[in-house]
Amino acid sequence: MMISVCLLGRGGQGIKSAAHILGTAAFLGGHYVQDQPLYGAERRGGPVTAFIRLSDEPILDRGPVTDPLLMVVADDSLLEDQLKDFNVSEDTVLFVNTSKNVDHIRSRYGISNQLVLSDLSLMAEEVLESPVVSAAVAGATSRLLNQDFGDLKQAVMLELRNIGLDQKEAEKNLLLARKAYDSVMPVKLPEAKKEAREPAFVELVYHGPEASTCSITSPGNSQTRRVGDWARLKPLIDYDECTKCRICFVYCPDSAITIGTDDYPHVNYDACKGCDICYTECPVKAISLVRRDEKA
Ligand code: SF4
Ligand code: SF4
Repeated sequence: MMISVCLLGRGGQGIKSAAHILGTAAFLGGHYVQDQPLYGAERRGGPVTAFIRLSDEPILDRGPVTDPLLMVVADDSLLEDQLKDFNVSEDTVLFVNTSKNVDHIRSRYGISNQLVLSDLSLMAEEVLESPVVSAAVAGATSRLLNQDFGDLKQAVMLELRNIGLDQKEAEKNLLLARKAYDSVMPVKLPEAKKEAREPAFVELVYHGPEASTCSITSPGNSQTRRVGDWARLKPLIDYDECTKCRICFVYCPDSAITIGTDDYPHVNYDACKGCDICYTECPVKAISLVRRDEKA
């Protein structure tokens, strides 16, 4: 049986790496495998998708997975409007990285599918002190698919070596993968659809270069963008520490920080995508990052 999995997350969470780890682990386990990421222009916080197919027989399907048996959602805010882009049937098993409980997810997003939840972001913050959940997503998904942890361990180390992580960081990621693996149980996936599907051809419409290439249509319009729901983390400014240097205001790529009449920086959370640049650049560490759903 072929198992198809979609991973849905946000730029900066490590979704591409998670898919690669899972693909490698399945390959080491003796399966035929495909894994591929799909994302647009690289922007931290923007939606990122990755697909995995694994089977005991050669895989003839190509292209993105449109009808996954397992849907992994690495940020619960994506349940709001991104899920509709996939053919998630009532049989699809949904795994969500969230701090919420099942009742909340069902009532808020109207989901009746089999649901498995785990707070991978909290684990990543505790183990790595970072929002990167690639090892955690790979660990939890691997257990849901009933993969062997030995294969996963080897795949995590191969991936982390490829991206140049040192031994200490690699071991922390391995610990995170193990915690995530132990946080869930294997699931029974629905039967794969056997009927031959029509290939999903996409008609490419010609757009002239004025529409299909990057252009700034009007100056200073980044403030009008509403990317607040991309954010998993949000910056909080400690005004007792802030020296009013304005560096955060200058660096914010989305003009989400303005200087008020009090001369202090203020964050517009509707325009803040949680990229953490202000947090990184603040010279006196007056900015901290908290989860978006935490009260200021
Ligand atoms: S306010 Fe900070 S975290 Fe938000 S978009 Fe600007 S630089 Fe990024
Ligand atoms: S960079 Fe830090 S100290 Fe400077 S204005 Fe921003 S919050 Fe204040």
